[in-house]
Amino acid sequence: MVNSVKKDAKGVTVTFKDKDGKSQTLQAEKLLLAVGRKPMTDNCGLEKSKAQVERGAVHVGPYMETAEKGLYAIGDIVFGLPLLAHAAMMEGISAVTHIAGKQGPAIVKERIPNATYCEPQIGSIGLTEKQARDAGYAVKTGKFPFVGNSKATILGNHGGFIKVVSEEKYGEVLAFTS
Ligand SMILES: Cc1cc2nc3c(=O)[nH]c(=O)nc-3n(C[C@H](O)[C@H](O)[C@H](O)COP(=O)(O)OP(=O)(O)OC[C@H]3O[C@@H](n4cnc5c(N)ncnc54)[C@H](O)[C@@H]3O)c2cc1C
Repeated sequence: MVNSVKKDAKGVTVTFKDKDGKSQTLQAEKLLLAVGRKPMTDNCGLEKSKAQVERGAVHVGPYMETAEKGLYAIGDIVFGLPLLAHAAMMEGISAVTHIAGKQGPAIVKERIPNATYCEPQIGSIGLTEKQARDAGYAVKTGKFPFVGNSKATILGNHGGFIKVVSEEKYGEVLAFTS
């Protein structure tokens, strides 16, 4: 746990408590802050509803309805779903369609695309190869290097590949990574 950060001409000095509760000091040129985000659901009356809240995040069903009938939650305050803009948007569509009494898309965590913001970028959806094997699937994988991809050639950037994980017997696609 970080207790203080001091900036000086050389860089930064961070004082923190380690996992044993011992006070420590670290000096570095730069400080990268990557603490993540958390839902802000305090004082909005949720405690008066039947909605289940865990560490500020709200539990929902497949159409984003909470345990309180007619009360929906979407986006970054939802428990167990990725905190991503495209996920929030689809959750909103799912909730509004359900409120209107129509058959909308159910939100399935495994079908939400993931984005890993690094260089090169990584986009993925579905189970990893290991998760698919652990789930008991007979797995087949295919890999295609970007060197054979026209868009990669246009961009002059051939680093990377596309990987498909499928189920062996019927060829059902279980995962896609690029
Ligand atoms: C630095 C950063 C970079 C990100 N980059 C990406 C990215 O590249 N791709 C991606 O998919 N996702 C990205 N995200 C995540 C994405 O922004 C969120 O997942 C998405 O915005 C969640 O939508 P939301 O509607 O739940 O919340 P928000 O977009 O945060 O909207 C909540 C709104 O509610 C308002 N509000 C809060 N409290 C109250 C109140 N009491 N009364 C009235 N209004 C209130 C807020 O002001 C805000 O406008 C990023 C997030 C951050 C912080």
